[in-house]
Amino acid sequence: MAEIPHVTLNNGVRMAQLGFGVFQIPENRTEEAVAHAFSAGYRSVDTAAAYRNERAVGAAVANSTLSREEIFITTKLWNGDQGYDNALRAFDASMERLALDYLDLYLIHWPVPAKNLYSETWRAFSSLYAAGRTRAIGVSNFEIEHLQRLFDEHGVVPAVNQVELHPYLSQTELRHFHEEHGIATEAWSPIAQGAVLSDPTITSIAGRLGRTPAQIVLRWHIQIGTIAIPKSVRPSRIVENIDIFDFELSEQDLSAIAGLDRAHRTGPHPDIFGS
Ligand code: NDP
Repeated sequence: MAEIPHVTLNNGVRMAQLGFGVFQIPENRTEEAVAHAFSAGYRSVDTAAAYRNERAVGAAVANSTLSREEIFITTKLWNGDQGYDNALRAFDASMERLALDYLDLYLIHWPVPAKNLYSETWRAFSSLYAAGRTRAIGVSNFEIEHLQRLFDEHGVVPAVNQVELHPYLSQTELRHFHEEHGIATEAWSPIAQGAVLSDPTITSIAGRLGRTPAQIVLRWHIQIGTIAIPKSVRPSRIVENIDIFDFELSEQDLSAIAGLDRAHRTGPHPDIFGS
């Protein structure tokens, strides 16, 4: 099994560049899917309170032969739980469902600018981090102006910003901003829920290299430095999606994929979602 490369977050914590996403996996199928992912070599799992499968993720961790230290668990605070006290309560509820002593990464799921609570929520996240309840804190779906506000009001830089990112939405400006400020970029819907897999540029690279389109796109993520968290419930795809560490895309292939950017979203826009 080839080793998964890691990124070092801005507080020194190491996070695998490829993880397993469990959005839209029903609770009664999640433990099995995560167990398949662990046996295929994944060590990092991305869930959220809103996915309603944290208990099953916790069960997969508890029933695995891996040690807790080998596993990296991310969960997220749902929009209705923003605010200082609410966030602390929601964290405890997630930890109870996950049945973990500590979390690896806690994210604010969406900024919901209309509620104007994300900055106060970040203060709660900073205290959870200071108390050692989670090894790292970050955000999801934050735009530059939302990140800037966290820096200005708290001086605590998120370790990670998890955003929609794939060849049709390559987020170049946001990625540069992250680099400048020491924030790791994590890509959700890394294969655009399948929408990029029949793109002729991708299929032609795949054909030339004898790889699948999903492997080409996930390898692109690794080479541009993002953390990718593909989801699948199918064991064969779970294996396919991690089998990307024994080949490389050329500079020419990388720039051909960069040329596919077209501001295409599979999900909602962060400025308005949750309003
Ligand atoms: P993905 O880009 O990971 O695509 C998942 C879809 O592609 C599923 O329908 C899956 O089907 C299919 N698929 C997976 N592998 C392959 C393959 N090798 N070939 C062909 N089809 C494949 O989309 P997601 O939206 O699930 O995003 C991944 C993760 O990102 C989520 O699970 C979640 O953890 C996170 N996320 C975070 C969000 C946020 O707001 N922070 C929002 C959305 C997602 P099948 O299961 O049948 O194989």
